[in-house]
Amino acid sequence: MIKKRMVLRFSKKTWNQPIVYRLVKEFDLAFNILKASVFPKEASLMVLEISGEEAEFDRGMAYLESHGVIYEPLEANIKKDEDRCVHCGACASVCPTGALAIQRPEMYVTFDTGKCSGCELCVKACPPRVITATLSSRV
Ligand code: SF4
Ligand code: SF4
Repeated sequence: MIKKRMVLRFSKKTWNQPIVYRLVKEFDLAFNILKASVFPKEASLMVLEISGEEAEFDRGMAYLESHGVIYEPLEANIKKDEDRCVHCGACASVCPTGALAIQRPEMYVTFDTGKCSGCELCVKACPPRVITATLSSRV
């Protein structure tokens, strides 16, 4: 089971087709609408959090492509404020990828952005709230 936030862009020709409905019906995917800017007969945009089996998710994305919908993952850009970090280690204990890790013996918490998956678990785990997430896509 996977869950991804995706930006979907619809053209003037596809804005009113039941494409998202079919994603649910044919590929057994669930979605939450995070944002929607839909304009009659104009290019439109939806930001969805889509979850389901990985193979079905891939098939669903191929379906979008075949219907002229441009899609792109919405990526969380994680930043850690080094000046305000107290190196308590709370974020490293929840980080599933090891992007946040405790460097021993200094006991500094380091952040390797290359390992970050953007799951945002660390944002809520940080007591002084010095980790922030901003969302961006390339489309
Ligand atoms: S967003 Fe997730 S993977 Fe990235 S540093 Fe935070 S907990 Fe680790
Ligand atoms: S939880 Fe926050 S304060 Fe603690 S080590 Fe991580 S970033 Fe620093």
